[in-house]
Amino acid sequence: MKKIRSKINKTKRFSLPEDEKHLPWLTMLLNAYHIINKGVDASIEAAVKKDRKLACAKGCSSCCITQSDIPLYPLELQGLIWYVTERFTGPDREVLKNNLQNFESDKSCPYLIEGACSIHPMRPMACRLFNVFDIPCKDGEDPFHTRREDVMDPVKKYVDQAFFIMLPYHGIEKESDRIRFVDDGEMHKMVRELHGCNWKALAEKMEEFDNRCKSNDV
Ligand code: SF4
Ligand code: SF4
Repeated sequence: MKKIRSKINKTKRFSLPEDEKHLPWLTMLLNAYHIINKGVDASIEAAVKKDRKLACAKGCSSCCITQSDIPLYPLELQGLIWYVTERFTGPDREVLKNNLQNFESDKSCPYLIEGACSIHPMRPMACRLFNVFDIPCKDGEDPFHTRREDVMDPVKKYVDQAFFIMLPYHGIEKESDRIRFVDDGEMHKMVRELHGCNWKALAEKMEEFDNRCKSNDV
């Protein structure tokens, strides 16, 4: 695994400083996401130099409806559960709770609200890495199968570095062990699928959290 020298720094790291003070795993996750964002920037930059144009844009979301095999690593799941329960506020909270409560695995992603990703700063690595060039996806199209050449290739060294950062969460702390774990592809054995998670349980967790907050207000 090659270490990355920090050259590209366009993407600002999403930070939650107060929470990160007492949640070390959150810092790991946000650092990993930052590295992935840098890798995506680098890939897009390289493609633009070859006269390709990113088709993905705000409001374009058929991928979130079509894709049903979105990988989710354990630390990502932990981050998502925490963020949605404790930090997801505003009028969309009830909409999201309802989406999660009624989620079925053959439905579109429950985090898609009015054509946008409602958990954008905490969206999974796979969603960050899925980018398409030149032509936006048609409804129901999976460009990975219809035109693989237009789908951005993930930059392996960035993905490996993100895994490297996440590994202490799994109790693998020694640098040499982390490098071996990543190089051997062990990380992939831990992956789950977003559509296979028990989102109804998360809706209940949100509800319990809200009730606790209300009773503390009394
Ligand atoms: S992957 Fe396709 S549907 Fe999703 S944002 Fe990009 S162009 Fe739009
Ligand atoms: S998590 Fe967000 S970006 Fe990923 S599929 Fe769901 S709505 Fe789309």
